[in-house]
Amino acid sequence: MDLVALATVQAIDTALDQARHARPRLAEVIEHQAAERDLLAVRAQIADIRRRQADAQRELDSVESSSAEIDTHRSRLERQMKTIISPREAEALQHELHALATRRGELDDRGLELLEASSAADEELAELSRAEERAADTEARAAERRGAAEADADARIAEMVVLRSTAVQGVSAADLAAYDRQRAASGGVAVTAIAHGKCGGCHMEISKSELDAIKRLPSDDVAECPSCGRWLVR
Ligand SMILES: [Zn+2]
Repeated sequence: MDLVALATVQAIDTALDQARHARPRLAEVIEHQAAERDLLAVRAQIADIRRRQADAQRELDSVESSSAEIDTHRSRLERQMKTIISPREAEALQHELHALATRRGELDDRGLELLEASSAADEELAELSRAEERAADTEARAAERRGAAEADADARIAEMVVLRSTAVQGVSAADLAAYDRQRAASGGVAVTAIAHGKCGGCHMEISKSELDAIKRLPSDDVAECPSCGRWLVR
C-alpha cells in the first residue's frame, strides 16, 4: 500500500472536510441569517399592527352602527314624548332617553379612543415601514456578500476536488477502497504521522518499544497506531 500517496489524498480530504464544514458557518452566512431574522421581525411587527388596526376598524364600524341605531331610537322616543299625557309614561320615557344618551356618550368615547389609537398606529406603521426599508436594504447587501463568500468557498472546494482526482490517480482501486473504509471508521482521518512520539490521529503516546517495532516493519507493511489503528506514514 502506497501510504505516501494516500497521505497526500488524506491531506486534501482533510482540507475538503474542513472547507465543507466551514461553508454553512461562514461569517457572511451568519451575518445574512441575522439580517433575514431582523427583516422578518420588522415584518411581523407590521403585520401585527395591521391586524390590530383591522380589529379596531371593525369595532369602529360597529360603534358607528350602534350609534346610528340609538339616534333613530331616540328620535322615535322624542316624537312619542310629544303625544304622551300620562306623567308616569312620560317619566318612563325620560328614563329610557336618559339611558340612551348615556350609552350614546359611551359609544362616542369609545369611537374617539379607537380613532386616536388608529392614528397612533399609523405613525407607528410609518416608522416601521422605514425600518423595514432599512432592514431589507441590509438584508440585500448581506445576501450579496454571502453569495460572493459562498462562491469563493465553492471555487476553493472545486479546486481541491480537482487536486484530489489527480492525487488518487497513483493509488490502486483496492487501496482507495480500504482508505475510504478506514476513513469512515476513524472520523475522517485514515492516514496520519507520528509527531513528537504521538499519533497524529488520536494523540496517544507511542512507546519506545512500539516505535522500534514500527521501524522494524518491512517497508511494504502498513504501520498502525497501537491505540487507534490509524495508518502511520513512516
Ligand atoms: Zn492513534
